[in-house]
Amino acid sequence: MSFDHLGLSDELLKAVSDAGYEKPTDIQASAIPSILMGRDILGIAQTGTGKTASFTLPMLDILGEGRARARMPRSLILEPTRELAAQVAESFEKYGKNHKLSMALLIGGVNFANQEKLLDRGVDVLIATPGRLLDHFSRGKLLMTGIDILVVDEADRMLDMGFIPDVEKICECIPGRHQTLFFSATMPPPIKKLTDQFLDDPKFIQVARAASTADTVAQHLITVDRRQKRAALRTLLEGKEVRNGIIFCNRKVEVKEVHASLKRHKFNVGQLHGDMVQSERMEVLQGFKDGTIQFLCASDVAARGLDVPNVSHVFNFDVPSHAEDYVHRIGRTGRAGKEGTAITLTTEGRDDTKYVAAIEHMTGEKIPRTVIEGIGKVVSKAPAKKVKPVPSKSKATDHKRNVTDKKPVNDGKKAQSLPAKDEKQDRKPPRDKNPRSKAKGRRTKNDDTVQIKELPNKPVVGLGHHVPAFLKSAVKIKR
Ligand code: AMP
Repeated sequence: MSFDHLGLSDELLKAVSDAGYEKPTDIQASAIPSILMGRDILGIAQTGTGKTASFTLPMLDILGEGRARARMPRSLILEPTRELAAQVAESFEKYGKNHKLSMALLIGGVNFANQEKLLDRGVDVLIATPGRLLDHFSRGKLLMTGIDILVVDEADRMLDMGFIPDVEKICECIPGRHQTLFFSATMPPPIKKLTDQFLDDPKFIQVARAASTADTVAQHLITVDRRQKRAALRTLLEGKEVRNGIIFCNRKVEVKEVHASLKRHKFNVGQLHGDMVQSERMEVLQGFKDGTIQFLCASDVAARGLDVPNVSHVFNFDVPSHAEDYVHRIGRTGRAGKEGTAITLTTEGRDDTKYVAAIEHMTGEKIPRTVIEGIGKVVSKAPAKKVKPVPSKSKATDHKRNVTDKKPVNDGKKAQSLPAKDEKQDRKPPRDKNPRSKAKGRRTKNDDTVQIKELPNKPVVGLGHHVPAFLKSAVKIKR
């Protein structure tokens, strides 16, 4: 299927081809023709599936005809966070460069007066977070009677953030005759209730199983001692394949602490959390997008749905306490068919065990356990045989099999690097001169280890070309 068959205008086809898209994603192929025909849509899709273009593209063509009147936006897109709203605005700019549509962004943390000026001029596309929209509405600065298309995006996140009453209120203020496009990664009961109430015979589109993880993401679960989490993270960040990454923590205070700690260790890292002012958040995000910031420590709220192409790794410094956040977090990598790696650090604590079980219950997949010597605590309990392969992605499981099935895991004897027979001929000096990695190999008070080996930089039997970088890095060996 090509974009030519979806019914989009030539201007849009040109913009799509300029964006480098060759063919529509599944959700685009299903949603675009129906939206152009005026149908309501109920899309169960996670970010990374191309869902933003699935609604922005047809909206641009629909809104191409007609004119906006002062204070009466013609379409409204609700987003749970400011960053997502800004991202959708970017999409409109990118795809709408051959259209002459006006757009306004109503998000918190931005000056009211400028937003009002834009509204006064009349806007075709209004992108808003629910709270700020209702602020303007209650002050009489905006009428919702001209809205022909309403998009509710990331509805399940709205639910998590307590926005559903606001969304309901907004839906009630929009007159009956309009088209509603509703997207959510999952369908918990309050969301189902909302869609039953406000959607009119919607086309149901489900592009990935609800709460499923992307096939393009290789997942790893590494058990570490709680006190060694930061050291383990640092080692992982130094992996050769790690181009950039988002490090998720469960709480803002932890984001700040991990960020400060990584900074102290000279990592190029920024932070993103709800305590920051909007301009700071946008600046950091831009830095991460354009590569001037390599790592981003983030909370779930701040990073939800962020579309940064080419994120090579996601690190869960904490196992997310809400299982659905796991899917969203790891969805920041492996986007639009590209490959990515998600590494979750867990401890043997009761909470973590419970959270991991909840994630696996929800996704229906076991997260492959990965045991890496030199990273945190080596455990011998990894259920090697029980791990179910990650669909169509063999990296994680292959890796797992090699590490745990073939090699004895800390059984009280000396640990060995992989594969033992290659050790001598491939022994190399420590991996790099980076000051961050100098600590490796030194003996510390509590750590009776010396760094000695680096794995051969060539295919490892059984792993093909998919040897994760951290497996090839130097390992510690107990004396
Ligand atoms: P989304 O799910 O909307 O967050 O989109 C995820 C990423 O996919 C964005 O970076 C888009 O630019 C990209 N994308 C959207 N549609 C296509 C397409 N048809 N082909 C390739 N990439 C796409």
